Formats: sequence, structure tokens, C-alpha cells
Amino acid sequence: MSTERMTDAERRRDPFRVQPGPQLGRRLMRAVALSVSTALLLAGLSFDAYVYFSLRSAMVDDLTAQAHIVADNSSAAVLFGDSGAAAQTLSGLQSSVGIERASLLDLQDRQLAAYSAPGQRTQRVDAAPPALATEGHRFAGNRLHVRVPVREGDRVVGHVLVSASLRVLYERVAAFIAITLVVSLVSFALAYALAIGIRRQIEGTEKRLDYLAHYDPVTGLPNRHAANEQIQRLIATVGRTSEGFGLLLLDLDDFKLVNDTLGHGVGDELLRALAGRLTKFMRPTDIAFRFGGDEFVILSPRVVDPVQLQALANAAMRAFDEPLAVGAQLLRARGSAGVALYPNDAVDAASLVLAADTAMYEAKRMGKNTFAVFHPRMLNDTTRRVQLEADLREAVSHRQLRLLYQPIVDLATQRLVGVEALLRWEHPQLGMVSPVEFIPIAESSGLIVDIGQWVLHAACLQIRRWHDGGHRLHVAVNVSALQIRRGIQAQIDAALRASGADPRALQIEITEHSMVEDLASNVAQLEAVRALGIQVAVDDFGTGLSSLAYLKRLPIGKLKIDRAFVKDLPDSSDDAAIASAIITMAHSLSLTVVAEGVETVAQRDFLAAQRCDFAQGFLYSKPVSVQAIDAMLAAGRVLPALAAT
Ligand code: C2E
Ligand code: CA
Ligand code: CA
Repeated sequence: MSTERMTDAERRRDPFRVQPGPQLGRRLMRAVALSVSTALLLAGLSFDAYVYFSLRSAMVDDLTAQAHIVADNSSAAVLFGDSGAAAQTLSGLQSSVGIERASLLDLQDRQLAAYSAPGQRTQRVDAAPPALATEGHRFAGNRLHVRVPVREGDRVVGHVLVSASLRVLYERVAAFIAITLVVSLVSFALAYALAIGIRRQIEGTEKRLDYLAHYDPVTGLPNRHAANEQIQRLIATVGRTSEGFGLLLLDLDDFKLVNDTLGHGVGDELLRALAGRLTKFMRPTDIAFRFGGDEFVILSPRVVDPVQLQALANAAMRAFDEPLAVGAQLLRARGSAGVALYPNDAVDAASLVLAADTAMYEAKRMGKNTFAVFHPRMLNDTTRRVQLEADLREAVSHRQLRLLYQPIVDLATQRLVGVEALLRWEHPQLGMVSPVEFIPIAESSGLIVDIGQWVLHAACLQIRRWHDGGHRLHVAVNVSALQIRRGIQAQIDAALRASGADPRALQIEITEHSMVEDLASNVAQLEAVRALGIQVAVDDFGTGLSSLAYLKRLPIGKLKIDRAFVKDLPDSSDDAAIASAIITMAHSLSLTVVAEGVETVAQRDFLAAQRCDFAQGFLYSKPVSVQAIDAMLAAGRVLPALAAT
């Protein structure tokens, strides 16, 4: 896309301008003009100097030759002092153009005869001392004088002195100078015209390069480079005013999934649609940038109160509210945003971006599709994260991890049919740390592989114990992306073999975005897992891409509706529609459905009426210890609703 192709509407929406940089073109013009004129001048000057000097030396040769002819013909006249004969000889010079005067001198330099060209003053005999006293030539004033000896045999008997005007020489040199000047001017004009053409081309290329350097071709928004420049500009203006400016960093959740499952074309369209939405919700002075693959930045100048940033973030999140029509699909994009304010939260561009980034991660931690405003406390959180990561390495070996089990109930019978194993970490100093906090750390540090292995072993041992006690209860285990990539089948195999558990009682829960990278090999892994008789469930359904096309490719048997859609049931008509649509769709794909986060009887009744298969939530029980589950099993498995409506 080029600047020319930007529509006016786009330009208005986007006050960030490409500063066309004709520097190179202008500099080239200057360089061409300077070098061409210097070259021409030098060439012209040296040519003219060459012409001048060669004409001069030719003139000397010519005049000397003429003087010799006179000398040869006048030796007798000079020897006998016959001035009549001498004058006769000199008059032969009349036919030579340019010769003004000539004289024949005896050995005492007395003038024997003289010649003056027509129009010249006739020289009186013996009028003046000769113009040249020695043999050879001399330039003096406007004349060239040549003096040659007159010989009789070997003896010098007198001299011939010839003087010619330099006018002809000067005229010729002037003509040459005029010609070189004209040629120089013409070549200069040609070179200039050529350079103008090149300059136009260069400026066109420059503009295009500048555009490419500053704009993202997919969305037409200015890019990261432009954002950084704009941040610097805004920082410079803040120094002069009392107002700050805000930076909102928006990260698209599961964008890679869209690319991988629906193709890059759809991914690009989604980005374009989002860019359009964002710019629609912004203030006219705000500028949106595509900051990275799935990141957008909005810069909001003139922010006095951090509360204004909330409005900005709300506006950005609103861009996600309605599903986006991308091609034939309706996609519900989700994003997490972080906002930071300059100069309150940062000292320079880099720390401002970092602050927004930190806030954005906080938003992700709070559960996606939300935003967070930067607070210095978040940096403390970073320190805490670093400490947790260090301590997490020893959690397994120091036996600080434990599993709680949360009942899963059959909605038709209210009977306990299974449990979900949920990790707990008892930190020696910090006390109980939530998996919401440490699982992401374990995932990003790779520790989740060892931890996950421990969870599988512990869960399988528990299956075996319940089985031995006569209870058929399935246990669902949460599995992270990295575990799948590291070969989940082998890990499960090891756990099953070590415990002797029945694979049919084990289920694994995966999230959609855990499948993002390398979908094909992940699918192969899950196929192998299913071949062992283990059921695979998609966790947190509805929070990710939730595309039917994608779901069909996964070897799964179960969907877990995220508690975000259960929370406002049955009052929220939107969520009611979504929940019942998910249930219907899942059943049409022969999948069973679990509703998560069921807290009220009304939720339970609504879900049961929609023929949802299973429910899990505080209505029945929080995640509890093995002993508590044992008590439920002993009590006959029918779980009463605990919480009041
Ligand atoms: P999840 O898989 O979605 O697990 C369900 C979470 O919802 C649990 O939080 C559970 O305590 C909570 N919950 C259950 N019923 C209700 C309810 O009625 N209302 C509300 N508000 N919450 C309810 P928990 O135990 O803190 O686990 C959080 C997340 O940590 C899990 O979300 C899961 O993603 C992750 N996690 C837990 N254990 C493991 C594990 O062993 N491996 C992996 N990879 N992730 C785990
Ligand atoms: Ca789960
Ligand atoms: Ca879940």
C-alpha cells in the first residue's frame, strides 16, 4: 500500500503523518549540480589554457621561421650595409598576417632597415633601441618579439627583429572560451534535467520507503517504529506543558490460533477489522499503531488525570464487544490491555512501554479480555514472580504440592460422577499460593513439565485407590501446552503403569490456546492419548477462538463451558443464548458438556433445562481434600446444593 492509496477518510482517522523525506533527492541535486559544474569548469579552464599555450608556442615557431627566412635572404645586404636591399627583403613580410614590425640590425644593433605593416606607424631608422636585445623570443605587452641572427657562413653579421601582434591569438582564445562556455552550459542544463528526473524517482522511492518504514501494510496503521517516534515527540512536548499522555498496549488473545486454523488471510482480515474498530472508538486526537504481530498501541495525548486512561481502555475493550464478521465467519476476538501514563509511570519511552506491558500482563493474569492500569505495585509483583519461580523449582522435591478434588455432578441425577484435580502449593513462607498465580510461572519457566508429571502420577494413584475401594470415579487432570508438546502420551503411560490405574477413569483437560503451536503434532499426541481410552476435554470453552472448524479437528469428547458464561445465568439473555448454543452445538458433534462455576440453583436449573450433561461449582462443593470426597462417596454420592439461591 502506498501513501497515495490511503483514502482521505483513513488520513482523517489517522493524524499520524508520514513526513516525506526528500532530503536524499535534494542532496543529490546539490551534489550533481556542484560536481557537474566543477567538472565542466575545470575541464573548460584546462582546455582553454591548453589552447592558449599551444597557440602561443605555434606563434613563436611561426614567427621564428619567418625571421629566419628574412635572415637567410638578407645576409648580403647586412654584410654590405645595403639598407635599400635590406628594406627590399623586409617588404616581403607584407604577405604575413599579424607581423607588425620588423627591422634588420647590424652588429652594433643599429637599424639598417625597418618594416611596418600597413596601418602601423612607420618607424624611423635608428628611432629606438631594439625591443629585444638577445636572440630568442619575448612576449611583451600585446606583442611577441623574435630576434634571430643573420649569418654569412658561420659568422654572425647582424640580426633580424620581428614583432607580431597578439591580437589574433587573443581572439582565438576568446573564441575557444566562448565555445567551451556554451558547451558547458548546454551539458550542465542536460545534466540538471537528468538529475531532476532522477530526483523525482528518488523522492518517490523515498516516500514509499518512508511509508513502509512507518506503516503496517496489513492494517494501514502506523507501525511500531512510528509509535516509538511519536512517543519521543510526545515526551518532548510534555516537557513544555503540564499535561501527560497515555499509552495503551493491547494484546490479542489467541491470535496465532486464528492464523493457524483459519489461515493468514482471515488473520489479516481480523487485524484490519480490529484496527477499524479501534480507530472508531478512539478520541480524534488518539493515534492507533500496530505495534507487533498481535499487539496494538494507542497513544492518547493531553491526559491530565489517570482516570482518563480508564476511558481509553474501556473504549479499546469495546472494540471487542461485538463479534467481527471476517469473511464467512463471525469471530469473537479477545484482548488484554495495559495502560500507563507519562510522566507519572515512566521516565522515558522504554519504561513507558514496559509499564503498559506490565499492566497488560496483570490484565492477562486477571483473566483475559480485560484491562489493567499500571500501578507500581505491579513491579513488586514482578519481583514476587521471580521469587516464586525460584522457589517453585523445589516445590515438587520438597513435597509442597498437593491436589484437591472438585466434584463433577451429573445434572440429570445430581450424582457425583467425577472430580477435577486442582493443584495447591503450600509455600513455606508465603502460605497457600493460587494456581492462577503459579501455573503461568511454571508454564513460562518450563517447570510445568515436572509439576505436570507429578500431578499425573498423584491423580492416577488416587484413581487406583478409589477403584480399589470400589468407587468408579473419573478424575480430570489439567494439562498445559508444554506438556503436550513434550509428549503427553509417554507421561500418561508412565503414570498409568506406575499406579496401575484404569485409563478409562482418567480424563485430561486442555485449553484451546494450548493447541496453538504445531496443531498437527498436538492432534497426533491427543489421538494417541484417546487410543489409550482416555477422554480429552476442552477447558474454558468460549474464552478462546471457539471456532467450530477448529473444534472438529480435535479428538475430543467433552466441552467445559467457561464460568464467565455461567456467572450471569439465567438473567443475562446474551449468556443464556451463548450457553444454550454451545450445548446444542456440542451435542451435534457428539460431545458432552460440563458447565463450570455453577454457584446457584437457578444456574443449575437453567443448565439442566438446556440438557447440559454435567455441572461443577461451589453450588456442590469447592475443591476439597481426598477425605472430603471419600465422605461424599460414603454418603451415597448424591450431592445436595450447598449454596442458597
Ligand atoms: P480451571 O481448570 O478452570 O479450574 C477451575 C477453577 O475454577 C479452579 O480454580 C476452581 O477452584 C474454580 N472454581 C470451581 N468452581 C467454582 C465456582 O463455582 N465459582 C468460582 N468463582 N470458581 C470456581 P483453581 O483451583 O484456583 O485453579 C485455577 C486454574 O489453575 C485452573 O483453572 C487451571 O487452569 C489451573 N490449574 C489448576 N491445577 C492445575 C494443574 O494441575 N495443572 C495445570 N496445568 N493447571 C492447573
Ligand atoms: Ca480445568
Ligand atoms: Ca476451566
